Amino acid sequence: MKLEGVHHVTAITSDAQLNLDFYVGVLGLRLVKKTVNQDNPGVYHLFYSDQEASAGSDITFFEYPGLPRGRAGAGMVHTVVWRVGSTDSIAFWRERLGDLGHPVEEDGEGLAFHDPEGLRHLLVVSTAPDTPLSATHPEIPPEHALQGFEGVRAYSVAPDTSETLLAEGLGFERVGDVWEARGDQRGGTYAYDSPPEEPGLQGSGTVHHVAWASKSEELESWRTRVMETGASPTPMIDRFYFNAVYFPEPSGVLFELSSLGPGFTVDEPLDSLGENLSLPPDYEHLRAQIEPNLRPLVMPSAGRDS
Ligand code: ZN
Repeated sequence: MKLEGVHHVTAITSDAQLNLDFYVGVLGLRLVKKTVNQDNPGVYHLFYSDQEASAGSDITFFEYPGLPRGRAGAGMVHTVVWRVGSTDSIAFWRERLGDLGHPVEEDGEGLAFHDPEGLRHLLVVSTAPDTPLSATHPEIPPEHALQGFEGVRAYSVAPDTSETLLAEGLGFERVGDVWEARGDQRGGTYAYDSPPEEPGLQGSGTVHHVAWASKSEELESWRTRVMETGASPTPMIDRFYFNAVYFPEPSGVLFELSSLGPGFTVDEPLDSLGENLSLPPDYEHLRAQIEPNLRPLVMPSAGRDS
């Protein structure tokens, strides 16, 4: 068994419209699902991805209106790393982000920036053989579009304590100081940095969890396997779009293992994904209560034809 890289990254926003304007309007991702938090159906859960709504390019946000700004600390993911096609693409994003008022900084060969609530992103030129996962956007030439996740970076005070789980429980391979989960189709990386002194604070602009992709038929076996290395996974939970198992890895970062199927077209056609509020069957009977309490979202104009 091998995990197929990152399935999705889930983070927190206090303002769904601000979030949509950035991830669709600026970064050029596609809103592929507008639904509610299945553990708290009074708030939005927004999913952005490539044109095909693929795992591997899917960043999702729980909205908690008015939640104070958080900050990444020990035991939290602090940077989401995305692939782009070339150094020309890095130059394109340096200019685009700058023009749109988002400060950028060089980080090694990559380009780092923050979303409007402080979540840090890093663009790197892809060296992976994986199929690029891109969305279309009228202002972004296809060759410069984001191509899906390279991986995530987290803060840990004791990364060695995670080694058994990562290597034996999850089959990650260590390349230098970076761990990689690589399956038949895709790979994704996981790396640690020393944490800042200030403790982390879960709030808007922070990552809630990172999910790794499992072949659907292997999820239960993965659950057993991580348990054998000492992790305490939840039972398998049906998230309607995929099945999921959650557990904190020893550094404190919340991991999820998610099945690759059935995916986001289970309740909407691919062409109109994200246009309407989707409610999983267990919540459909609550639509009349849920929908009026959610602030309507306006698609950013530049992202409207995507
Ligand atoms: Zn998740």
